[in-house]
Amino acid sequence: NLPLSELDPEVAEAIQNELGRQRNTLEMIASENFAPRAVLEAQGSVLTNKYAEGYPGRRYYGGCEYVDVVEDLARDRAKALFGAEHANVQPHSGAQANTAVMMALMQPGDTLMGLSLAHGGHLTHGMKLNVSGKLYNIAAYELDPETGRLDMDKVREVALEAKPKVIVAGWSAYPREQDFAAFRRIADEVGAYLWVDMAHFAGLVAAGIHANPVPHAHVVTSTVHKTLAGPRSGVILCIEDLKKKIDSAVFPGQQGGPLMHAIAGKAVAFKIAASEEFKDRQRRTVEGARALADRLAQSDVAEAGIKVLSGGTDVHLVLVDLRDSELDGRQAEDVLHEVGITVNRNAVPNDPRPPMVTSGLRIGTPALATRGFGKEQFEEVADIIAGALTPSPDVEALRARVDRLAQDFPLYEGLESW
Ligand code: PLP
Repeated sequence: NLPLSELDPEVAEAIQNELGRQRNTLEMIASENFAPRAVLEAQGSVLTNKYAEGYPGRRYYGGCEYVDVVEDLARDRAKALFGAEHANVQPHSGAQANTAVMMALMQPGDTLMGLSLAHGGHLTHGMKLNVSGKLYNIAAYELDPETGRLDMDKVREVALEAKPKVIVAGWSAYPREQDFAAFRRIADEVGAYLWVDMAHFAGLVAAGIHANPVPHAHVVTSTVHKTLAGPRSGVILCIEDLKKKIDSAVFPGQQGGPLMHAIAGKAVAFKIAASEEFKDRQRRTVEGARALADRLAQSDVAEAGIKVLSGGTDVHLVLVDLRDSELDGRQAEDVLHEVGITVNRNAVPNDPRPPMVTSGLRIGTPALATRGFGKEQFEEVADIIAGALTPSPDVEALRARVDRLAQDFPLYEGLESW
């Protein structure tokens, strides 16, 4: 029972260095967050030792009395948070939650209709190398090239033509709130199930500042680690009628033993997501993204062809459009890395540059909002980003401004090693 630092100093050192990186840089990857200490504790607990195939009250292993308590808490809290009839909290990840939904609702060869990956969809919504693209026939809808937004008339046209079994709404890189009732009308018109993948914006939904897809969709999936700031994992919410199909597609369809330590982390995350503090954090997240979009649009970089896709944002992320700029996605990501800001390059619709280079940046505010940033700090971050994207940035001066913000908003205070 030696501590990690003594038993395995190499792994301990890498973890310590990662903690230092998270503390000393500004994390702006839109899909990342900082799980609170209580979630880390639950995930690092003895629950990792327990096998619990099955569901609470109906397990294939003995000794499940305490893990049943944990899974019931996670399910009940997820249902209450989003107003769902049923919750399955066992998916190990967002991708596994999504695959289980497809298994539950479709047969191989059936048609799935989702937003194209190149326009902001997720690879589990039909990319050809993913199981979704290999097993199912894919019909993709796209953003309007003029507005950078979804046009529901065009979505309807694709649905009428493709007659999908399932329509998935939800995305990884789309900065706008969408009308789920309109998606449901189209699904009903063509006799499809409506599945919403709210992985990115689930925290905003929980806080009541984004439309809730649950009343409109047959099934909703999410990750728990993005805006929700919980453990790395997935969750499925569905109507009562689909409960059996979904549960059986997760176990035994997809997975063996559930990760009970992660499920404990989910229970804690859902409890936190019902709090006032969490709502305030989500408000700052959206306010920060808006400030970033506005500030970038008004800065000098706008004259150098750097634009904000769709002209702004309703959510936790901004897509920077570099199609008309000399700077490409990789160069922009690299220069921001040099000043201490972590983002990811991202393809934009009809991107002229190759996927490893891209003409876009996806910039998210959830992690910094968790760190305590408000409008003022996000405006300063926007100015630093604009400074970094100019033709000859003063990297040292910008890095000093990043260091100051990181020091003013300490992360995981009091944790010496984790
Ligand atoms: N769905 C969406 C919309 C996502 O953006 C992501 C992750 O980026 C996933 C699903 C997959 O989640 P995971 O990485 O946990 O498999």
